[in-house]
Amino acid sequence: MTMSLSSALEQVNQRIRLAEQASNRPAGSVRLLAVSKTFPADAIRDAHVAGQRAFGENYVQELESKCAELASLTDIEWHFIGPLQSNKTRVVAELAHWVHSVDRLKIAERLSAQRPAQLPALNVCVQVNVSGEQSKSGCEPGQAIALAQAVAKLPRLTLRGLMCIPDPHANPATLAGQFSRLAALREQLRADGLTLDTLSMGMSSDLETAIGAGSTLVRVGTAIFGARDYGVR
Ligand SMILES: *Cc1c(COP(=O)(O)O)cnc(C)c1O
Repeated sequence: MTMSLSSALEQVNQRIRLAEQASNRPAGSVRLLAVSKTFPADAIRDAHVAGQRAFGENYVQELESKCAELASLTDIEWHFIGPLQSNKTRVVAELAHWVHSVDRLKIAERLSAQRPAQLPALNVCVQVNVSGEQSKSGCEPGQAIALAQAVAKLPRLTLRGLMCIPDPHANPATLAGQFSRLAALREQLRADGLTLDTLSMGMSSDLETAIGAGSTLVRVGTAIFGARDYGVR
């Protein structure tokens, strides 16, 4: 194993612990999802040896090939976090333990229908576009409540919470506002009776801000695996 990967992982875990303390949250209340997109299966093996179990992938084909390559590591928890086209839902329904990027009912209905009967219900988050950018995936904040309530009723899905990708160019105050907006939507859904334990928000550069706003799961790629090279995919 490369020392650098295990020490990078340790540093990220340390950042999470410090951020939990800084916001008076219990140690261990924030989970780390290691975002391994574009990195080879061997990088995941190294992280697994270092104790990491939850991995996030953005591309269906990559999820498929890494699941096959790493099938012997049966305790890996696979999270799909990328944009999902309806013609690709079956593979994700069969392979993933979690999907963070549910942004319309049609996708949720397909995932529920295609989730194999012998597997437990698929854990999902509804992705909300809190930054208001046109190009971003995620449902509009005004639609989030209705979408979450509809997703929660699907038989083969367990709605765990909400996810967002804020504007990467936002200043810290704007970022904090966008994270807080997601947290407020979860509170509203909880008041309506849904038990949502997950706020999937925060990445390499902003995990402290996200944890300050209530994140329960941070999705971290670069700070663990290094810079991504999309050219070699
Ligand atoms: C790539 C990606 C991440 C990780 O981003 P880093 O800045 O590398 O930590 C997190 N979430 C989603 C949805 C991503 O696509």
